[in-house]
Amino acid sequence: MVGSELQNIISREGIQENVPLAPYTTFRAGGPARFFVTPRNEAEFAALVRFLEKRHEKYFVLGRGSNLLVSDKGFEGTVIYTRKMLNRIVKTEDGQGFSAQCGVLLQDLSAQALASGLHGLEFAHGIPGTVGGAVLMNAGAYGSEIKDVLRSARILGRDGQIREVPQKELDLSYRHSAISDGSGFVISAEFVLTPGDPKAIREEMNELMRRRKEKQPLEYASAGSTFKRPAGHFAGGLIESAGLKGTLHVGDAWVSEKHAGFVVNKGHASASEIYAVIRAAQEAVYKNSGVLLEPEVRFLGDFS
Ligand SMILES: Cc1cc2nc3c(=O)[nH]c(=O)nc-3n(C[C@H](O)[C@H](O)[C@H](O)COP(=O)(O)OP(=O)(O)OC[C@H]3O[C@@H](n4cnc5c(N)ncnc54)[C@H](O)[C@@H]3O)c2cc1C
Repeated sequence: MVGSELQNIISREGIQENVPLAPYTTFRAGGPARFFVTPRNEAEFAALVRFLEKRHEKYFVLGRGSNLLVSDKGFEGTVIYTRKMLNRIVKTEDGQGFSAQCGVLLQDLSAQALASGLHGLEFAHGIPGTVGGAVLMNAGAYGSEIKDVLRSARILGRDGQIREVPQKELDLSYRHSAISDGSGFVISAEFVLTPGDPKAIREEMNELMRRRKEKQPLEYASAGSTFKRPAGHFAGGLIESAGLKGTLHVGDAWVSEKHAGFVVNKGHASASEIYAVIRAAQEAVYKNSGVLLEPEVRFLGDFS
């Protein structure tokens, strides 16, 4: 049995069974994971991947769950949860940046940058994900992105080996990286920043947060922008043109009336309801404008 064998890989306290995933996602929806494991350190993370690969077991690496919709049926595999233990931040030797483990929240990293008078991560302050999820997606906002501040990342391959990969080789572009296809996992990442005035850094963070609160439905559960920005368009604009803003809903899952690019859970929406709104929005936009919206949100489990 995988469950008992897992105990040979990581400590017993790090292994749970049938864990509901909804509380681990910002959509607050979805069913349980068969196994939910929390590696205590990088060596355990690598050993887990080696073990699960060798056994051809299904597994999924979970950060903050802020870009994720988990099926109501859950996930019949092993979820590797990084946020709780892999969350160390260390200043680089030259004092001009940080090395951060994959489970570090971008909010904590940008707070550290502010405390150290280092500029460059202001944009990341309002992105509620982990370093791992952010490198994978090349997360970005307000004209900046992870690519601008990343020097390198330590990547765990599916072969269980860890390699240091320079930023250029990570092939970062809009919401894309060389490991977007799941071919590797971020163990840690090194960020290069520039000295700045703490007052100016704080003001920039506050200003970007003010703009977020003004434009985004942060009062409801969501995964941020549901769709990627199609070339030459804005997803929110296309959804609004199709007449769906604040009107399309299935149960408690709605196209937000504040920002049509967000699908929100206004109460107790199931993952199926959220999924139905996403698909209906795609269809309606395609009919209305001929543009096929590609989800930015990732899906875990069976939605058939
Ligand atoms: C209110 C709100 C606002 C948002 N605003 C923005 C924004 O401005 N810009 C933006 O880019 N995004 C935004 N997002 C989306 C989200 O926060 C980012 O995509 C974030 O980078 C996801 O990180 P995560 O840790 O939550 O990833 P998760 O949701 O846990 O996972 C997402 C994907 O990353 C993978 N992953 C997680 N950890 C690792 C790892 N260590 N190695 C490899 N893969 C990993 C997962 O397997 C999954 O495929 C927003 C979300 C919300 C809810």
